[in-house]
Amino acid sequence: MAEQLTPITVAYGDGIGPEIMDATLRIITAAGARIKTEVIEIGEKVYLSGNSAGIAPEAWESLRRTKVFLKAPITTPQGGGYKSLNVTTRKMLGLFANIRPCVSYHPYVDTKHPIMDVIIIRENEEDLYAGIEHQQTPEVIQCLKLITRPGTEKIVRYAFEYAKQYGRKKVTCFAKDNIMKQTDGLFHKVFDEIGAEYPELEKEFWIVDIGAAKLADSPEVFDVIVMPNLYGDILSDVAAQIAGSVGLAGSANIGAEVAMFEAIHGSAPRRANQNLANPSGLLLGAVQMLVHIGQGDIADKVHNAWLKALEDGVHTYDIFKEGVSKEKVGTKEFADAVIARMGQKPANLKHVDYSQAKEAIKVTLKPAVPTKMETIGVDVFLYCEDRNANKLGDALKVIEVNGLHLTMITNRGVKVYPDGMSETFCTDHWRCRYKSDKAVSYDDILALQTAVNKAGFAIIKTENLCKFDGVDGFSGGQGA
Ligand code: NAD
Repeated sequence: MAEQLTPITVAYGDGIGPEIMDATLRIITAAGARIKTEVIEIGEKVYLSGNSAGIAPEAWESLRRTKVFLKAPITTPQGGGYKSLNVTTRKMLGLFANIRPCVSYHPYVDTKHPIMDVIIIRENEEDLYAGIEHQQTPEVIQCLKLITRPGTEKIVRYAFEYAKQYGRKKVTCFAKDNIMKQTDGLFHKVFDEIGAEYPELEKEFWIVDIGAAKLADSPEVFDVIVMPNLYGDILSDVAAQIAGSVGLAGSANIGAEVAMFEAIHGSAPRRANQNLANPSGLLLGAVQMLVHIGQGDIADKVHNAWLKALEDGVHTYDIFKEGVSKEKVGTKEFADAVIARMGQKPANLKHVDYSQAKEAIKVTLKPAVPTKMETIGVDVFLYCEDRNANKLGDALKVIEVNGLHLTMITNRGVKVYPDGMSETFCTDHWRCRYKSDKAVSYDDILALQTAVNKAGFAIIKTENLCKFDGVDGFSGGQGA
């Protein structure tokens, strides 16, 4: 009977992309990968042909059909108007989880951290990467940070399930809820809620700044770390670099239907077409892919042969070190060295074993809890060039509509009225908080805006102030 081949979509990308993709496909084919590739065009050429997304419509068809994407890095052309293909792919295909294993290979690859085996699980769709940005006044631009309960539940659940399935002991959460009490506060809260369902796993929480410092200094104390998008983006690069090289780390982007596998690094255009680049990042992405499509036996062979080549000191320029490495090789020769070791295991580095079939991690959302939502006021944002907070406050104080009255004005989040400090630096962007002692309607809010507008103030936007089950769903002002 003919062997069942799994169709996968492949993109060779730009810069070093084609060289490392060739090497990767050659290695996994030599290991016996049961795959059939469909090649799509993405990246620089597509961008420069006038497609601002960098991916042609027929490429989406292939991705939706195969649901598995092995992608080499691409070059995003400089200048405005070109959208990040990575962000587009992740969001359009709902690839909510980004998994980046960051491992050190001491003493074969030079590293300051001999014991490091950290899995970074990064939320992939939300946070500041929603890409909702507006210039609101000549001086002030806003980027909306969106953290949602379902998005957070999905990534946190994924992290705990991953830890359970891969025999990990501890899940750590990084966030900054001492400052962003609402958004990062929700991330932390959901982490605690879902973590309580996994008594067998150790749980810990770090404020991201000190957590990042600890990760850079003592990565050996971490196991699985889950974080919102931006922190995860930055810290997974840091973690990969301190493990040895960004050239060594692969990454999986997992959605409910489709999954994408890649190296974490970019297209390194200066290294292109010289047979120099390290194909390891993409190869380890391909290993994650093989596990994902149920070919753990092949993943095993590839990963162990690769570890043996590293251990034998066969190194590309980026990890080559006199006295540590034995042989400096190019991309092609490195691939040959891995293929020559197929079937072997490393003698000293920990070998991998993917023989236990891994079930696809399914994340189910908790049923939505009915929530009482009540509007009790509105933040009216004004553009005003005059930096006199007291003058502005006194003029707005006299406007009162259906119980909505001015309670404070902030500038960049700092309370400047009433009782502001003369030292506080002010921009042309003012948040004027109108609250009521009882619930208000949207008509009340519109009537208030009409009154503010008629009084000659330039409204640039509003945000409703709501209570959820009696709890304020908005932040106060600093110094308020
Ligand atoms: P980069 O990751 O391409 O390169 C950073 C440094 O690491 C360079 O010194 C490079 O030589 C080295 N390096 C990277 N990968 C290597 C490898 N496999 N072997 C050996 N050395 C390697 O980052 P960059 O220079 O900031 O970006 C270059 C381009 O890549 C930009 O157009 C950027 O938009 C794009 N990019 C794409 C992706 C992606 O497609 N996933 C990710 C990041 C950057």
